[in-house]
Amino acid sequence: MQRNSTAKKLTATIVHAIYNTLLPDTCALCEQILTPAPPDHLCPYCRLALPYNLNPCTSCGIPLQQSDARHCGPCINAPLVDQAVVPLLHDKEAAYLLHRFKFQKNIREGQALAQTMLQMINATYGLRKPLPQYLIPTPIAWQHRLLKGFDHAQILATMLSRETNIPVKANLLRRKYGPPQRQKTRAQRLKLTKDTYTLRQPAKAINCQHVAVVDDVLTTGTTARHIVQLLRRAGVRQVDLWCATRAI
Ligand SMILES: [Zn+2]
Ligand SMILES: [Zn+2]
Repeated sequence: MQRNSTAKKLTATIVHAIYNTLLPDTCALCEQILTPAPPDHLCPYCRLALPYNLNPCTSCGIPLQQSDARHCGPCINAPLVDQAVVPLLHDKEAAYLLHRFKFQKNIREGQALAQTMLQMINATYGLRKPLPQYLIPTPIAWQHRLLKGFDHAQILATMLSRETNIPVKANLLRRKYGPPQRQKTRAQRLKLTKDTYTLRQPAKAINCQHVAVVDDVLTTGTTARHIVQLLRRAGVRQVDLWCATRAI
């Protein structure tokens, strides 16, 4: 038995080495060959060049001017979420990675974003703060999922779940069919109707205290605010938000 499993591991290592020699991984931004391949598929130069969100509001992820501040003005009185994790600004290389992931369905670019999110998740929670019990991807309408064959928020949540061991609750929320948020003007985005997102399960079935909503880009925060209200009404005490990029 022991000999079998050692042989299997050795075979997998050899296959992996041959695969990497014949088809080496390349940087998701500059296409430079990467040996060995890092989990984020980025070379050190491109990783450093990403537009990091260096001093974000801890409740909505907006970049802050004052380095010692923790919240933006609006979040002092009405925080968007309990803890926002938004590591990148929606600009330049980060916007490029997100576009390639979301619209060209390139998993490599999604992994680059998920790994960047993971670094900030580790830095934010560390050993001091408890991690959420569940990850909840922001839902898209089933008609859109069927047409696209791709649910980017759910894929990001699954990647993060593999690294953090936090389970994904993908069927908790439902989105009504309608134009995606990105096709609307800022004014239209702010007027999201109350029934756009609903709970699939009765509130008492949710039975958890702390969740993180996962999405690709945080723009006006309207979607997040609706989802937070739904979850709070259902009895969830702490709602965090993990997004790859912050539009400003
Ligand atoms: Zn590169
Ligand atoms: Zn804020």
